[in-house]
Formats: sequence, C-alpha cells, structure tokens
Amino acid sequence: MKQIPYGRHSIEQSDIDSVLEVLNSDFLTQGPQVPAFEKAISEYVSCEYAIAVNSATSALHLACLSLGVGSGDIVWTSPISFVASANCAIYCGADVDFVDIDPLSYNMSVDRLSEKLEKAKKENKLPKVIIPVHLAGQSCDMKAIFELRKTFGFHIIEDASHAIGGDYLDQKVGSCQYSDITVFSFHPVKIITTGEGGMCTTNNLEIANSIYRLRSHGITRNPKEMTEAPDGSWYYQQIELGYNYRMNDIQAALGLSQLKRLDQIVQKRHKIKNNYNKILAGLPLILPLEMDYARSSLHLYLVQIKPKEMKAGRKEVFERLRQSGILVNVHYIPIYHQPYYQKKYNYRYSDFPEAEKYYSHVISLPIYPELTLEDQDRIKEAIVKPIGHQVIF
Ligand SMILES: *Cc1c(COP(=O)(O)O)cnc(C)c1O
Repeated sequence: MKQIPYGRHSIEQSDIDSVLEVLNSDFLTQGPQVPAFEKAISEYVSCEYAIAVNSATSALHLACLSLGVGSGDIVWTSPISFVASANCAIYCGADVDFVDIDPLSYNMSVDRLSEKLEKAKKENKLPKVIIPVHLAGQSCDMKAIFELRKTFGFHIIEDASHAIGGDYLDQKVGSCQYSDITVFSFHPVKIITTGEGGMCTTNNLEIANSIYRLRSHGITRNPKEMTEAPDGSWYYQQIELGYNYRMNDIQAALGLSQLKRLDQIVQKRHKIKNNYNKILAGLPLILPLEMDYARSSLHLYLVQIKPKEMKAGRKEVFERLRQSGILVNVHYIPIYHQPYYQKKYNYRYSDFPEAEKYYSHVISLPIYPELTLEDQDRIKEAIVKPIGHQVIF
C-alpha cells in the first residue's frame, strides 16, 4: 500500500541542475547564490530587505534580538503553532504568553488580543513583541493587529513559516506593510524548500543590518559600525554576540530554483483544496474557512470533526486514516500543553477555550503538489468506509 504523507517537497530536474551547478562552482557558501536568493525574495514580496538564514527558528531568534527582546520583556504569540514561535522569546531571556485563537480562522484572535492588551496595560505588563502566526498559510488580519499597535506600542513579527506565496489584502505576505519583520521557513514540508532554511524580510535598514551581523557571529565589515577606523582592508570587528546562522549557497540555489515555481505550487494546492471541498462536502467535518482578506498558500488543509454528528471521535478518525497508510497529522498541540512550558509557567488550559476546542477536533489531511485526485478519493474512502461493524457516520 502506497503511503501518503501529509506534506512533501516537490523537486524537479531544474532544482537538481541548480544545486549541481553550485557544487561545481568556486563557492559552496558565502558566494553569489545567497544574495541572489535574498534579492529574488525581496522582489517577490515587495520589501526592502531579505536576509537568509539556516532555519525559520534562527530567523525568529534573530528577529527578536534585532528588536531588542531581552530579559524582563514579554512576547505574545498564538498557542496553535509550532513550538519555535514561542521558543525564540525564551532564547532571548524573555517571557512568553499566548493569545487564544479565533474559532473561524484558527489564527490569533484580534478580539482576545485587544482584551488582553487592555488588561496588560493596567497591570503594566504590556508585551514588547507580538508574533502572529499565519496558520496553514492564511494570513492573520494584520491591519487590525497593526491598529492595536498604535495604542499599545508593541513590535510585530509575522511568523509566515507556512505562508510564502500567500496574499494579505492586495499584498504578498512578507511585504511587512503591517509588521516590522516577516519570517519564512524553507523546511521540506513547507511551500518551497532549501532543505533547511529561513528568511527574514523587513523594510527597516537598522533591523536588516542587525540581522545581517547576528547571523554571522556579530561581526561587521562596515567601517560605520566600527568603534575605530579599520586597520586595513582585512579588518573586521565583532561588535556584539552573534551566531553562525548562515544559509549556504547550495541551499540558496535550490531556493532560487524553487521560487520560480512558487506561484504554480500555490495554484496546485488551491486545486487540491477545491477538490477536497467538493468531495468532503456533506460529511460531518468543518472544512477550512477562507477569510475575505487573505489568499492562503495552503501549507495545510485543516479539517475539524463534528463530534456530535459522528459515532467516533477525532482519535478514531485519525487512527483509521493512519491504518490506511494516510499519514495524517495534528497541527498543533497547543504550545502551553508542552511539559517545558507547563513547568515554566503553569498555564491554565481553561484560559484558551478556543484553542482547546480546536485541538480536540482537528486533523491535517495530506496536501502537496504531487497529491493526485485518486489519492484524495482514497483519503475520503478511508474516512467514510465502515471497518467491520464500525461505522463513523
Ligand atoms: C516550521 C515552522 C517553524 C520553524 O521552521 P524551521 O525552518 O524548521 O526552523 C516555525 N514556525 C512555524 C509556524 C512553523 O510551522
């Protein structure tokens, strides 16, 4: 039985050729491919600066550092995300808190955010940074979040790990019209890949320069950033504590090649979504809702089971899909459930009722460019066909 993963990279001969070209060239890292990839991304999303790094996790870490996040600061994000969205604040010595999700978009709720900000203001505990996560590739309502920033003065990092190729209003996600920094991931399950890799985009030169330095040990070769005139043209200075978070040229060449197909890949994902919407209509499932302000890149196709209309729960549906070789997944376990966060902060689950409800019903069905109509039929069959006496509907 052919196994169907929930997500999979799409590699073509042109990608392989691009990588081979780098392997035969003079530079495997710190050559021309990384700046070319950065330029291509900044043009694609229409932002001033794009800085490539070795993962979105690194990108989130450097994004926080470049905004001055440190000990005593508070960062808020969505509980329905990968742990990296929260860990980045802890790396900087800051504290993390979560804002419950919106039951329709599954993204951070702007209403809950607004209430939580009012309360935090009274307690003098306002967050320094808010990290909205564009779950499944559908942008948060950034304009509404940006409006709140005028009153409460926080910075905004968009975790767009799922969302390259998506749109918000009439802009590409990553334009940073309503944020300081946007972060993309190029992990192989995401929309386009560099094997491992990430990117920060920003329109702020100071932030860009800070991220450039921090991704490479905190070293600068720009005399204007030095404490004294250079000794000679070999001179560099380490002016802060940075990391080795660089992307290499092999990865960037793959990214450049993949970026050429990005729109095509997103279109293919929309076709798959449309077919799911058609074949799953009428089943006791909540299908993903498309918000009018966003066009999703469709990293994930999230369905929620309607337990009252089913003879089985999410677990049974999940297990029968897995037993049929369909490697469905759950995105995500609320971050505050994780033992690390429980031990550190002892969050109450009841503070996040919508995240709890979502988590107990959601399944990610497979979606990736090579998924066929037959695969999708097989997925539907696995959900609806009775197993022995066990029927779900
Ligand atoms: C995948 C992912 C990350 C981390 O990406 P890496 O490139 O694997 O470090 C961060 N946030 C979200 C929402 C993700 O899905």
